[in-house]
Amino acid sequence: MTEKMLEVKNVSKVYFVEKGIFLKKVQPKHVLKNVSLKLCPGEIVALVGESGSGKSTLAKIIAKLEKPDSGEVIIDGINAQNFPSRVYGTKVGIVFQNPLTSLNPKLKVKTILNEVIALRKKISGDVLFDLKTIAEIFSLDEKVLNAFPSQISGGQAQRVAIARSYAMFPNYLILDEVTSSLDVSTSAKIVKIFQNLNREFKTAMLFITHDLILAGLIANKIFVLKDGEIVEEGDTFKVLNFPQNNYTQYLKEAII
Ligand code: ADP
Ligand code: MG
Repeated sequence: MTEKMLEVKNVSKVYFVEKGIFLKKVQPKHVLKNVSLKLCPGEIVALVGESGSGKSTLAKIIAKLEKPDSGEVIIDGINAQNFPSRVYGTKVGIVFQNPLTSLNPKLKVKTILNEVIALRKKISGDVLFDLKTIAEIFSLDEKVLNAFPSQISGGQAQRVAIARSYAMFPNYLILDEVTSSLDVSTSAKIVKIFQNLNREFKTAMLFITHDLILAGLIANKIFVLKDGEIVEEGDTFKVLNFPQNNYTQYLKEAII
């Protein structure tokens, strides 16, 4: 039997960018270089790196929104490319920094959630979560459920975006800087929800952040990404207290 895990294997990605004002030259930009990581059921793994290090590119590749130039993403022993996209949504969920990008502005929150709940039911045949349960998990009251995305706060919108992803009940959840634009107490509430989901349903999470200390609070393992390369990986305690790489030390000092 194959082991259940999300595995990123030697993923590389190059973007071609135009440089120069008069003589436009197309230059390759190596955004990800041979990146490998593993995320097992029940784990919360953090991917930490500064802006521009390639975090979102990797998140999009894992969610199949971008294709790697080489390397692969393997889910429970099966290459991600071989999943039909609807089924993939029950395996891997993704949430971005700006919740409004994933919420249809024309639909009420409850309609947005009900659509996903119905889709999940159609794919798997069983009812996993109803609206009431989802609303309870993510503390969404009647007022929020009956509002349009533009009528709720940033923190509420992010909870809705996470709830929307979670209604597919994915085994692996990719969280790309989901708390970065929120204030500290709103962010702490959301982190608490992740910890509860992880404990209760064993949902594995890849928590992507530029904040090493926040990573340390939520994750059991940390991967540090610098200029598209993993420069350090290990258990949180070890990475935070005994960083092997100067860059990890720099990230630690940059925050404190
Ligand atoms: P992060 O999420 O860590 O801030 P990104 O993955 O968004 O990093 O970006 C990594 C690098 O790739 C950046 O230099 C960015 O400008 C570049 N980049 C990202 N997307 C594209 C694209 N579609 N075309 C060209 N360059 C890109
Ligand atoms: Mg990013």
